[in-house]
Amino acid sequence: MHPALPTIRTTCPYCGVGCGVLATPNASGGLNIAGDPQHPANLGRLCVKGSALGETLDRRGRLLTPRIHGRPARWNEALDLVAKRFSDTIAEHGPDSVAFYVSGQLLTEDYYVANKLMKGFIGSANIDTNSRLCMASSVAGHRRAFGSDTVPGLYEDLEQADLIVLTGSNLAWCHPVLYQRIAAAKEARPEMRVVVIDPRRTATCDIADLHLALAPGSDAVLFNALLAEIAARNAVDENFILNLNGLEEAVQAASQVQTAATGLSGDDIRRFLDLWIGTERVVTVYSQGINQSESGSDKVNAILNCHLATGRIGRAGMGPFSVTGQPNAMGGREVGGLANMLACHLDIENPVHRNAVQDFWQAPKMPEKPGLKAVDMFRAVEDGRIKALWIICTNPVVSMPEADRVARAIANCDFVVVSDMMAQTDTTRLAHVLLPATGWAEKDGTVTNSERRISRQRRTLPSVGQARDDWRILADVAARMGWSERFAWTTPAEIFAEHAALSGVAGNLGSDFDISDHAGITAEAYDRLEPFLWPQSARKRGGRFFAEGRFHHPDGKARMIAVTPRAPQPTSAEHSYRLNTGRVRDHWHTMTRTGISPRLSRHLAEPFLEIHPRDAETLGLTAAGLARVSNPHGASILRVLVTDRVAMGQPFAPIHWTGETAPSGRIDVLVPAVTDPVSGQPASKSATVAIAPF
Ligand code: SF4
Repeated sequence: MHPALPTIRTTCPYCGVGCGVLATPNASGGLNIAGDPQHPANLGRLCVKGSALGETLDRRGRLLTPRIHGRPARWNEALDLVAKRFSDTIAEHGPDSVAFYVSGQLLTEDYYVANKLMKGFIGSANIDTNSRLCMASSVAGHRRAFGSDTVPGLYEDLEQADLIVLTGSNLAWCHPVLYQRIAAAKEARPEMRVVVIDPRRTATCDIADLHLALAPGSDAVLFNALLAEIAARNAVDENFILNLNGLEEAVQAASQVQTAATGLSGDDIRRFLDLWIGTERVVTVYSQGINQSESGSDKVNAILNCHLATGRIGRAGMGPFSVTGQPNAMGGREVGGLANMLACHLDIENPVHRNAVQDFWQAPKMPEKPGLKAVDMFRAVEDGRIKALWIICTNPVVSMPEADRVARAIANCDFVVVSDMMAQTDTTRLAHVLLPATGWAEKDGTVTNSERRISRQRRTLPSVGQARDDWRILADVAARMGWSERFAWTTPAEIFAEHAALSGVAGNLGSDFDISDHAGITAEAYDRLEPFLWPQSARKRGGRFFAEGRFHHPDGKARMIAVTPRAPQPTSAEHSYRLNTGRVRDHWHTMTRTGISPRLSRHLAEPFLEIHPRDAETLGLTAAGLARVSNPHGASILRVLVTDRVAMGQPFAPIHWTGETAPSGRIDVLVPAVTDPVSGQPASKSATVAIAPF
């Protein structure tokens, strides 16, 4: 009999809920998985993806050695080549001729090192992330309103609220444990109300008292109508508005809206306005349905405006709440891993901030302007401005808009490095150099969930093959480029301590992000680190920002933004269907892990197209038959699922499936590279397409 192996507390690597996981090594070399009852995010719960983690640790398909042009190589040879090609490219064409495209799946320590190398030492801001596809509009909305990228809400607010509005969020499938928490709270307090605002009747509607199936893209119209009604009924908070700028302009813009654009009945709109205005404790949860739009930032600000005007922010059971898709999108924001941000929520275009970070890093140079955001970055790869690209922990050939075009751009780039745990992805196939990375269960670090709670992810299994941690790979390349002293960490604990010390510098400059209590953390303390909310000072006050009505703009006031709603790109006679995209319950991103589990694939086994019965009839589609969905960007073949959960003209397809040859189930081949002008986030919820039987 094997002796019992110790259980290790770690964190789920999937969504932004950030559930605590108990991982117990078992006799067959795998892990038994359970929810961590002590973790504040989930209190022992797990969703089906999290509970299946032990089934996705198979080493089949793993990238086991570095590869150069497809042949196995030694680490030193691969690292030397990466460092030389990046150094040579920078020397010949300047720092903006190289780029990193990284991931909200990275641990914070990995992310910190990538950002430090690109911004402080290479001297370019050309580092962007797949989080650009996920929540960049929320970041932009927060910064415009609050002067900082601050998420004010806490998960406990979801249980303390009397009204929860879920807009552009299929929480039941995309953040299941938060959905479970709300469902349990509603069961305990049946008087709690839930409103779901979504063109589709999703699983989240199962707990809704009111489902508003609004017209795609009309969210800002609805929230403008709410703001106008708040003003008309004198429901503004007269004390709180002393902390605001822009109220009058925002209300004036809101008063111009025509609610007919929402496609909702007057009665439904009235019920929503009455509920929202008449309920003090209201939380508005929003996610990709808001963010992934060509006017995502405005939609975010239309929501924030309503909470600011009523002072419903920073107090128990109320506030706007952006929930992030990825497990560490928030950690990436904290380290400044977006092309338009500096570390610790500082501002890349502020010389005082830049100098402070440069001094702290003892860095040779810092960029003075933002770098290329994801869509623009791949455009620059396409037209040759980017000549060396390092893709880390992400699969843009599947997930970027106009994915076929992105594939062609990468294929034609002079030098492409891909770090990944898997050998064969749509992106790894295009790499000149492949670097094997450790995966979940094999690495130590931290992640930050949607409520700003930092948790440890702990190594529970040995690494596979020659895989190395991403932070170490980056630091080894930095050393070869001549910066060994500044990248000389030996453990992720040392990186965390440096990041925490930098946050103290940032805090002194007014940044909201401050974890400087941990600046001197020891390896032992890092190992024991319990999940905690930042900032430390707010944690002592209960963790809520803005309770005192002070914001991070220089005058201490929040800004309301005058929002003029914009309709999405119009359909045409040829491409007359507006395709909505999103996640399914049991798969994650491009399925490199969840696709391994037969149990997870049983829920929905293949890519599909949800389409309204009358559209199916018009098009001659039969249930369970195949449809070809196409537009000038690409084509996809999908199984037909006839359902009235979607409205006529508004089919839906999931994002996860991949495929080596076109047409396949890849959906982002159809998504146009149209972006929000403020955030640079693509409008992934809205592709105009033609549909035909296949
Ligand atoms: Fe993991 Fe998210 Fe499920 Fe929690 S809700 S177990 S973080 S996928």
